[in-house]
Amino acid sequence: MSKLYKLLILSGDGIGPEVMDEVIKVAKCVEEKSDVVFEIQKDDIGGAAYDRYGVPLSDETLAKAKESHAVLLGAVGGEKWDNLDFSLRPEQGLLSIRKEMDLFANLRPALCFESMVDASSLKSELVSGLDILIVRELTGGIYFGEPRGIEEKSDGTRIGINTQSYTTEEIRRVARIAFELASKRDNRVTSCEKSNVMESGILWREEVSYIHKNEYPNVELSHMYADNCAMQLVRNPKQFDVIVTDNLFGDILSDEAAMLTGSLGMLPSASLGAFDSNNSRKSLYEPVHGSAPDIAGKGIANPIASILSFAMCLKYSFNMDKESDLINQSVNKVLSDGYKTADLIGDDDKNLSTVEMGDKIINQLKQNF
Ligand code: NAD
Repeated sequence: MSKLYKLLILSGDGIGPEVMDEVIKVAKCVEEKSDVVFEIQKDDIGGAAYDRYGVPLSDETLAKAKESHAVLLGAVGGEKWDNLDFSLRPEQGLLSIRKEMDLFANLRPALCFESMVDASSLKSELVSGLDILIVRELTGGIYFGEPRGIEEKSDGTRIGINTQSYTTEEIRRVARIAFELASKRDNRVTSCEKSNVMESGILWREEVSYIHKNEYPNVELSHMYADNCAMQLVRNPKQFDVIVTDNLFGDILSDEAAMLTGSLGMLPSASLGAFDSNNSRKSLYEPVHGSAPDIAGKGIANPIASILSFAMCLKYSFNMDKESDLINQSVNKVLSDGYKTADLIGDDDKNLSTVEMGDKIINQLKQNF
C-alpha cells in the first residue's frame, strides 16, 4: 500500500503561485516514481487571503494547515496591501501560521552547487563543496519578548524597548533538533550566542551543553560567540556543519550563510515543530525569497528555491532522503548544463522561463530515478 501524505499548498502573492505550480509538477513526478500518494489541497495566505477572507490567515486555513502532514508556502506581500492596518498585512499571515503551528526551529541550508560556485561573492575554493545547515530558534527571543514598545518619559525622551528572554525548554527543544540533524550529517554542532555580554546567552550555552551531555554525547559540540561566527562564515565557512542559534542571531547568520552560495532564487527553508505522539511533526517549507512584485506575472521567476524547499519536505517530513537527493542532483545537473532563469543568467547560459525550468528539472529527475 502506498503511503498517503496530505500537503497543503499556500501559494500566496506575487510570484508565489508561479513557482508553486512548478512544485506541484515535481510532486506529481515523485508520486509517479515512488510509493507515495500526495493528497494536495490549496488555499490562500497573505494578500490573496485578505482579498478572499478579509484576513491574511483564516481560521479555516490554519485548521487545514494543522491537519496536513506538511505545508508548502510560496511567498506573501505586495504594494496592493501595503496600506492595510498592521494586523491585516500579508506578512502577519506568515508570522501567525509559524506561531500557531509552534514551528520553533527554522532550518536554512547553505549548500553550494558546483555549477553556482562562481556566483558566490567569496573565492571559489572557500565555497566549493560547502554544506552548512543553520538551525534558528523561531518563536522566542527578542522578537517576541515582553516588555516591548516605545515609551515616552516625562522629559520627552523616547525609549524603544525589546526584551531578549529564553526559557530552558525553548532552548532545549531547538538544541535537540540541531543534534538530531547533525547526527545524520557530519556530526558537529556549533552553538552561537553572546554569553560574554548577555545572561540569556549564558543560559543558552548551559542548556545546549546539558542536552549535549545527557542526550547526544556522541555529537561534537563547540560554542562560539555570534559575532565571531559572522566573521568565520566569510573567513572559512567550510569549518561548520550545523550551527544552532537564537532567533535574532539566526536571522542574521542564516542570511549571511545563505548568500555565500549565490542567488535569492535558490534558497530553500524548513520550519519544524516537535514530534507528536504519532511520531510526526508539524512542518512548513518555503523559499527564503519574497513575492518579487517587480517580476510577478512575467513568467520569469526562478522556481528552484521552492523546488528545493519541497526536497527538504521529502527529507525532513517524510524520510524520503533518496528522492530528496535526486531533486538536488537534478537541479545541479540542469544548472551545470547551462540552463538558467533570468536571475542567474551568465554570458553562455540558455535563458529559461519559470515553466521551462520546472520542466527541465522534471525531465532530469525522471532520468535520475
Ligand atoms: P523579494 O525577495 O521579493 O525580492 C528581492 C529581489 O529578488 C527582487 O528584485 C526580485 O525580483 C528578486 N527575486 C526574488 N525571488 C526571486 C525568484 N524566485 N526568481 C527571480 N528573482 C527573484 O524581496 P522584496 O522585494 O524586499 O519584497 C517584496 C515583497 O515580498 C514585500 O511585500 C515583502 O514584504 C515580501 N516578502 C515576503 C517574504 C516571504 O513571503 N517569506 C520574504 C521577504 C519579503
